[in-house]
Amino acid sequence: MNISTSDRRNHSTRSHAIIVGGGVIGASIAYELGKAGFACTIIDKSGWSQEASTAAAGMLGAQSETHHPGPFYDLCRASQQLYSDWTEELEAASGIAPQYIAKGIVRAALSEEDEQELRSRLDWIQDAEWLDAQSLLQIENELTPSVRGGLYLPKDHQVHPVWLTRSLRAALERQGCCVKEWAPVFKLLTAPGTGSVCGVSTPEGELYADLVVLAAGAWSSSLTEPLGLKLPIFPVKGQCLALRTEAPLISHTLFTKGCYIVPKADGSCIIGATQVEAGFDKRATATAISVLHDRAQELLPRMAEAEFVSTWSGLRPGTLDGLPYLGAWEGAPGLLLATGHFRNGILLAPITGRVIGQLATGITPEVDLTPYAPARALAGASQAL
Ligand SMILES: Cc1cc2nc3c(=O)[nH]c(=O)nc-3n(C[C@H](O)[C@H](O)[C@H](O)COP(=O)(O)OP(=O)(O)OC[C@H]3O[C@@H](n4cnc5c(N)ncnc54)[C@H](O)[C@@H]3O)c2cc1C
Repeated sequence: MNISTSDRRNHSTRSHAIIVGGGVIGASIAYELGKAGFACTIIDKSGWSQEASTAAAGMLGAQSETHHPGPFYDLCRASQQLYSDWTEELEAASGIAPQYIAKGIVRAALSEEDEQELRSRLDWIQDAEWLDAQSLLQIENELTPSVRGGLYLPKDHQVHPVWLTRSLRAALERQGCCVKEWAPVFKLLTAPGTGSVCGVSTPEGELYADLVVLAAGAWSSSLTEPLGLKLPIFPVKGQCLALRTEAPLISHTLFTKGCYIVPKADGSCIIGATQVEAGFDKRATATAISVLHDRAQELLPRMAEAEFVSTWSGLRPGTLDGLPYLGAWEGAPGLLLATGHFRNGILLAPITGRVIGQLATGITPEVDLTPYAPARALAGASQAL
């Protein structure tokens, strides 16, 4: 191992893991690995959690974000069920509350088409109830009177991603995890002859470990490609807007086609989000922000009077089939992948940490990871040919 003496702390006799990427996914994995006894080093090209993870709105939308039953819906629900205990544990470990709010999401229908689509979900979705306009206006009386009704999803809670990642950082530091910021990983290193991944190359030089975990979000594929694994992961830009009203207008998250409004504990609301494939360009545009504001007012007319707080954008790690890549790939022993969480990385952080921790310690993961196998990227490539 080539980790410097000051980084070693108590690392000498423990297995060492390097996690590439300090977003919510890398951090949740490092936290689980730390609990399992690994000495962890997180390496990030930027400062702590400055990419997708802190751009997110923090909805834990297992019900609102999925469009059909199946393994991905089950994965989302499994993670959702961990959230309350996970955030409590993180708060106890870090002294910082991730601002978990146990209030559900209302998916409001503003047109007949929306209503039909949302009602059709009642055939398979769990923990959902259709509320007619009158019942909906009773629980959220600032909603536009033209609302037709909505799907009430009481278990789709929320968290504040900025506070979640701060809480994870503090919990990791207390565990003794070494965090290296502003340190781009240039390359995954392989052991001569075996092809096993044994470390990473960084501006500080080569660092070696028993296990390398790739959690580099939208940037992941550039690191696996030289190993022969071309992951179809690409950046999908999302822009958001934060506004504040004198008194809170809503207590539930409101979601309609093309817009959601998430009320936060500090009295602000996050309004999101656009979805554009524009490479790695993260610039926020006035047009997109103005469209978001228009949509928010359509849903909640008093948003017209709200005070401007801020705007930002982030790059979701999109995948061709919409599923993340989780687990090992036989072409590169010593490497575990956890990337491509697209719109749901905040929701999926606890279950991702758990299953990667289980794989790292030789335990059969509690979720069947077959649908998320990295090797499917190769099958996709040969089909495309
Ligand atoms: C506007 C918006 C709203 C969203 N809302 C929600 C929501 O409400 N609920 C939800 O569940 N999800 C939401 N998401 C999705 C969620 O944010 C992502 O799925 C999640 O953050 C992905 O986490 P990550 O750790 O994989 O990626 P990131 O947070 O992008 O972290 C990857 C890290 O890897 C680092 N990195 C990359 N390459 C290298 C390298 N070569 N060397 C070292 N470090 C490297 C990056 O600097 C970065 O810090 C939203 C996303 C956006 C953009």
